[in-house]
Amino acid sequence: MSPLHLVIFGRQGAGKGTQSAHIVDAFGCVHVSTGDMLRAAIADETELGLAAKAIMDAGGLVDDDTMIGIVSERLSADDIVANGVLLDGFPRTPAQAEELVAILGDRSIDAAINLEVPIEEVTERMLARGRDDDTPESIAKRLELYESQTRPLLDWFDERGLLMTVDGLGNEDDVFGRVRSALDALNGTDPQVGSGGCGE
Ligand code: AMP
Repeated sequence: MSPLHLVIFGRQGAGKGTQSAHIVDAFGCVHVSTGDMLRAAIADETELGLAAKAIMDAGGLVDDDTMIGIVSERLSADDIVANGVLLDGFPRTPAQAEELVAILGDRSIDAAINLEVPIEEVTERMLARGRDDDTPESIAKRLELYESQTRPLLDWFDERGLLMTVDGLGNEDDVFGRVRSALDALNGTDPQVGSGGCGE
């Protein structure tokens, strides 16, 4: 089995980070979260971090060229070429989606997981976690951008038979059970055995 190339979608606060950790554990792909990369750049006070902070705090999107540059460099690294990738937080706009297909070339995307959690629930979760960028205004802005910029990308994956929508409500293990069944089916592995697939 060749390395898996996966994308995880879902509103901010849907649990993408938590589920991504389970997925990479089980399937051996490398987790690439653009939000984590940007937060690390802010902590390190790099040029990118300084430029991104105000945009992130306001709930806006960092510009496409910057994001495409970061992701394209990361995707060419040896660990990802060998083990595959789970992209979390990218692509977020039509321009990013187009570039992703170009960057991956023959490494085509195997599936897009859509972690579905209603707006009311993600809003409560984000207010409760209290991150710097989790003000009511910024949350509303991010949810609006998700609907207008990111959700339309799901159609692209759906049209190609790559979209797996998973109910993201409930405790994290139950949600991962659903994600795992969807991915096991894709991978052709026996869920009872539960072995992973990346790099096998
Ligand atoms: P996340 O952790 O994925 O919710 O990302 C946190 C913030 O980082 C977002 O609200 C955006 O401001 C920024 N960000 C992360 N990924 C991207 C992306 N692919 N394109 C533009 N901005 C992004």
